[in-house]
Amino acid sequence: MSIRLLDDHLINKIAAGEVIERPASVVKELLENAIDAGASRIAVRITGGGTTSIEVEDDGKGIPLNEIALAFQRHATSKLSSADDLQQIVTMGFRGEALPSIAAVARVKVYSRCAGEPGLFFHIEGGRIMACEEYNAVPGTRMLVEDLFYNTPARKNFQKSPVSEGIFIHDLVGRYALARPDISISFSSQGRLYFKTPGNGQLRDAIIAVHGASLAEQLLPFAYQGENICLSGFLSRPELKKPNRKWQYFYVNTRPIRSPLLYRAVEQAYQGMLVSREFPVAIINVNIDPKMVDVNVHPQKSEIRFRRDQDIFRTVHEVLRSCLQEYQVKISSYRHPPDDAAVTTDLAESVSSGWISTGIPSFQNYKPRVSLPPRAVKTDTTITVPTADSGNIKIIGQFLQSYIIAEVDQELYIIDQHAAHERILFNRLLKQDKDHRRTSQELAFPQVLELSALQMEILQEHSEFFSSLGFDLGLLGHNTVIIRAVPVGLNGHEEETIIEMLDAPQGEEKEQWPSKALISMACRQAVKAGQALEPAEIKAIVEDLLDTPNYKYCPHGRPTLIKISLQDMERMFKR
Ligand code: ADP
Ligand code: MG
Repeated sequence: MSIRLLDDHLINKIAAGEVIERPASVVKELLENAIDAGASRIAVRITGGGTTSIEVEDDGKGIPLNEIALAFQRHATSKLSSADDLQQIVTMGFRGEALPSIAAVARVKVYSRCAGEPGLFFHIEGGRIMACEEYNAVPGTRMLVEDLFYNTPARKNFQKSPVSEGIFIHDLVGRYALARPDISISFSSQGRLYFKTPGNGQLRDAIIAVHGASLAEQLLPFAYQGENICLSGFLSRPELKKPNRKWQYFYVNTRPIRSPLLYRAVEQAYQGMLVSREFPVAIINVNIDPKMVDVNVHPQKSEIRFRRDQDIFRTVHEVLRSCLQEYQVKISSYRHPPDDAAVTTDLAESVSSGWISTGIPSFQNYKPRVSLPPRAVKTDTTITVPTADSGNIKIIGQFLQSYIIAEVDQELYIIDQHAAHERILFNRLLKQDKDHRRTSQELAFPQVLELSALQMEILQEHSEFFSSLGFDLGLLGHNTVIIRAVPVGLNGHEEETIIEMLDAPQGEEKEQWPSKALISMACRQAVKAGQALEPAEIKAIVEDLLDTPNYKYCPHGRPTLIKISLQDMERMFKR
């Protein structure tokens, strides 16, 4: 084949492969265009997880009739005119690739109107213009994208299920809604409204609209004005933990971005407060001279490069750290009333196990099967317990309050106390779930819990599952639930546990949700690394663990224990 230039339609289809990976990419591009158009109100509506239809309506400046066809041409943009502009990008879009790419792989209809002009209707399918005419549209722009990937079957087959794509889009729109609290942004799927931010410029109000009031209550605000950088946002109290980084939102000059640098800054700020696989919530706005960042790194524009990235890292880390320290000082002075001896002793105990573990389910929830008087045995003495099935167990002690060291059948066991306890609790929960045995405990004071629309939906979908575990929940209002009873052992931590269960990954493996939710519940209730344990508690964990199916791994799949035999030991000492 001889070399020739590709025709425009083919170029657009190739570009679409880069820019339009999935339905969420269309939503992202249309949302960014609406933001760039100066909208104060944006509505996003999808059906079929975005594959059937995506609609983005804004009240922005509109597109003139004589420019609409151009807007759908490659590298057509109103946002950049010279290479200089590329050095300091202030708009969300600038590459002029989105509309032609979307139009190459979908059927697109545009209704738009600029102030004082007649308005238009434009229809383009697979890159072919079907209609371009005057139309009495409302001011602003409404873009309707239907049958995405109808002409690229390969891409279509790679799409995830509509449910998981819908959840992905929900997250994405939520991310932009927090980026621009000054714009009222709403999201609906299948005709149901999931959230609508008020657009009053208050980030906290936007968080309440998207994630519910109970999350917002657990966040600490921070703000910092430096010479070249300005930071603001919210951080979660260390007691609030999430199972992944999904709850970390970073914005640079209001553009949502992914940044390993900022993930690291957050992680280090929480050092010593969270263990591995626990993540905080963070919403961080970085305002910086546009010249100091390069956003033109990737076609999707969600990765950026900072110039002087080490300075930025240091500033962010220090600001977050001091926000957390301030909070720490505040709660410890709150919990140290000088004349209340009883409270002080309580605190001393919780401090000895690391102050962050206050407010976390403790060992009190855990009933050892063999009950020894807890304080009768000194920590440094070893206890030998002969058991029927798992041989001789001799507890040697606890290493760094995180690992249990024991001798079992003449082997040395090093047990990860959190992982082990998690496995024990998880198996118990599984068993209860199977046996439909309710081990429920009524709350003396029913709790009211406010949920986001998405959490509410998941709760309703799995309401039977929750009651089979022993939860008694009732609907109070639109997004409000009353907790009347909880599974035994959860008392005092019902809210966090329910929220964490609802936040367990849904995604494509929907059938796996119940077990993921049980893992969250077990993880919540399990003892933590860094927690001092009584000898009787240590013993119960070791015994129960060895008595549990699949005891070698925690439900996340990490090992619960390492065994070292005498031979291993001798080999190591080269005897
Ligand atoms: P870019 O955003 O990179 O400029 P796009 O292909 O996304 O490229 O859009 C092309 C042009 O179409 C934009 O520069 C803008 O002038 C116009 N446009 C797109 N969407 C809208 C909208 N919702 N309101 C007003 N103008 C729009
Ligand atoms: Mg754009």
